[in-house]
Amino acid sequence: MDLRFSAEELAFRDEVRGFIRENLPEDIRERLQLGHKVEKPDIVRWQRILNKQGWAAYNWPKEWGGAGWTPIQRMMFLEEIQTFPAPEVNPFNITMLGPVLIQFGSDEQKKRFLPRAANLDDWWCQGFSEPGAGSDLAALKTAARLDRDHYVVNGQKIWTSTAHMADWCFCLVRTNPQAAKKQEGISFLLIDMKTPGITVRPIISIDGEHHLNEVFFDDVKVPVDMRVGPENRGWDVAKFLLGNERTGIARLGKSKERVNFAKQKARDLRAHGRPLSEDPEFRRRIAALETELKSLEITQLRVLSAQKPGERRQDPLTAVLKLKGTELLQATTELAMDVAGPLAMPDWADELEALSNEPELGPVWATEATRSYLFLRAASIYGGTNEIMKNIVSKAVLGL
Ligand SMILES: Cc1cc2nc3c(=O)[nH]c(=O)nc-3n(C[C@H](O)[C@H](O)[C@H](O)COP(=O)(O)OP(=O)(O)OC[C@H]3O[C@@H](n4cnc5c(N)ncnc54)[C@H](O)[C@@H]3O)c2cc1C
Repeated sequence: MDLRFSAEELAFRDEVRGFIRENLPEDIRERLQLGHKVEKPDIVRWQRILNKQGWAAYNWPKEWGGAGWTPIQRMMFLEEIQTFPAPEVNPFNITMLGPVLIQFGSDEQKKRFLPRAANLDDWWCQGFSEPGAGSDLAALKTAARLDRDHYVVNGQKIWTSTAHMADWCFCLVRTNPQAAKKQEGISFLLIDMKTPGITVRPIISIDGEHHLNEVFFDDVKVPVDMRVGPENRGWDVAKFLLGNERTGIARLGKSKERVNFAKQKARDLRAHGRPLSEDPEFRRRIAALETELKSLEITQLRVLSAQKPGERRQDPLTAVLKLKGTELLQATTELAMDVAGPLAMPDWADELEALSNEPELGPVWATEATRSYLFLRAASIYGGTNEIMKNIVSKAVLGL
């Protein structure tokens, strides 16, 4: 197998790198370089710049406003965005909803929602998990009862990322509680978050931030034409979506960015009377991580190069990408936090800060490194837990 990129692929990577350098707004670049987290207005602004270039929907076909790229080009694009770093496109709109609508949506749904999703005119969230349905997603209970031309939805979702800023939610609901198999009674609905009867309650995560929510549905009316695919066949749609979600979740570029960040900071910090970057233990840790990242990159290329155009079957190796990719992401965020040492001490008690005149404990990059470390503990849970990925690997990859 030839593992070298072609001249065209390398030229493509240069083009993407050049575009980001030229077009990422200066204030967003500065904030990201200082280590601040990216906020919704920055994501919207940057995604619209990418969309003008035809690149926001990087994994959609051209026909529906996508970039029409090969799997290798998509991988290169993601990696350039993550390592620069620039804001990533909204994954709910681009990686999850878009491909689902293209594959299963009606013509009206495609025309109405795809252009708005690409341009981030609508911000989508994912209403799958429930208090009793996470790894065993098909156990979901949120009910949708058909009443002439609409469904009446009742129930609760949980861990719904960004629901508090979302315009729409794609949701799994139970339309046939009597189905012989629980997977057979589920439908996939598009729900306008402004519909009466929806309540969104925040869940504050360990990094002190509001990413997550509980969403309650109380007699929420959803028009029948907002169902994607046939009634009771929503499980096929969900499986397709989860497969796509896992492919991009390895976030190799993000791990590389964290290692580069740690290396850069280590040049300025001193340990045992010399720059930390010259410390043998630090260098060993960097070398080990970079070696692992390189092996994962090669596995990712193997998965991508085995993909046939238009193929819908998910390669079970994507479970390895998710599993190993998130383990490395967690290891690299830990490295960045360790480099900061005592400076990494979080200082997020904003309310207390408002009451006292205590100065900041450390520079923004250091406390944000801790925030990123803490938030990404969740990477081994979302998108299918790493234990579930191990089950898939043992059965479908190792044949145990
Ligand atoms: C930060 C974050 C963001 C999220 N965003 C969203 C979102 O936007 N939309 C959404 O719908 N959901 C979201 N989720 C939910 C996520 O998909 C679930 O948390 C995940 O699927 C696990 O489900 P659970 O939390 O119910 O845990 P459970 O399924 O109850 O699992 C508990 C533990 O048991 C283990 N376990 C369960 N079953 C098995 C098994 N068969 N074999 C071995 N071990 C097993 C799990 O690995 C885990 O360690 C998010 C979660 C997090 C943490």
